[in-house]
Amino acid sequence: MTARVLDGQAIGAAIRAEAVPDVQAFTAASGRPPGLGIVLVGNDPGSEVYVRNKVKAGGEAGLWVDLQRLPATAALDEVLQLVDRLNASSVHDGILVQSPLPSAMGKGASQRVFDAIDPAKDVDGFNPVNVGRLVQGRARLKPCTPSGIIEILDRSNIQIAGRHAVVIGRSEIVGKPMAMLLLQRDATVTICHSKTPDLPSVARTGDILVAAIGRPGFVTADFVKPGAAVVDVGTTPVFERETVERLFGPESPRMAAFEKRGSIVVGDVHPGVAAVAGALTPVPGGVGPLTIALLLKNTILAAQGRL
Ligand code: NAP
Repeated sequence: MTARVLDGQAIGAAIRAEAVPDVQAFTAASGRPPGLGIVLVGNDPGSEVYVRNKVKAGGEAGLWVDLQRLPATAALDEVLQLVDRLNASSVHDGILVQSPLPSAMGKGASQRVFDAIDPAKDVDGFNPVNVGRLVQGRARLKPCTPSGIIEILDRSNIQIAGRHAVVIGRSEIVGKPMAMLLLQRDATVTICHSKTPDLPSVARTGDILVAAIGRPGFVTADFVKPGAAVVDVGTTPVFERETVERLFGPESPRMAAFEKRGSIVVGDVHPGVAAVAGALTPVPGGVGPLTIALLLKNTILAAQGRL
């Protein structure tokens, strides 16, 4: 079997196109476009790329995107003050603080920032009020990556209800909300993590397998039930030639991309899984474009909620 490749690029583009009339209607009704404030602290190369893509996609959809940058040396209080200003602003409907924050800010910094964002503007869905609503099945602003994965499954006609979904990873931003959304769609859900014994055999019970780990090629074919739908959330930059060659082979297009750029982004799912899975999201071009599309959707929802 060769897995059907689920085209996140095309699905993301469709969702973004569907959002445009809503942006136009809001703009006509309120005399201004929906506004998204993005806070970027420091110069983490991955974050720079994510933020650039968010700014571009937002602009193309007709949003006003206001990128606010702070230096890597900024204190947590400066970030919190900026969040306060955006909370009070009448033209910023959504607020996103790009993760990760510089490690010098300390361990609990991200959570303190998420706590500070007005829940009505929390387009990432990480504020505890929105997390609580998510658990209760009544969230309006849901985390973008897991909601994007639900969209990929739905729009690819992959049934969720009644099936067994295994989520590897229990982070606040992907694993936990993913499990909640799958549960709300009537899947039976198992959450795995680094202390799960015999992970391959647990993973192999999943009709739907979501890998959100951050370890390139970790999920090999023996983790996968034949025919399962496999969603690869991982996006880890790889700089070592041996790793790229071991995963993809010396003659592969990915090796060629590595030769050209000196690094590539690799998912958690080993390329060999394509021979076992029924459907598979690629990296790049799978979950990533959905995260951005759902961010735009959340910004419009937040704006409509403030009309
Ligand atoms: P994270 O906070 O580091 O969480 C990783 C999770 O994986 C943890 O729960 C950890 O378990 C688990 N894990 C680590 N090693 C494991 C092992 N050997 N066996 C089983 N579980 C293991 O990461 P995250 O923020 O959820 O992100 C995960 C990946 O998704 C990263 O590559 C990230 O870049 C990517 N991502 C992509 C998008 C996108 O739009 N495509 C969005 C968000 C994140 P413990 O809890 O036991 O430590």
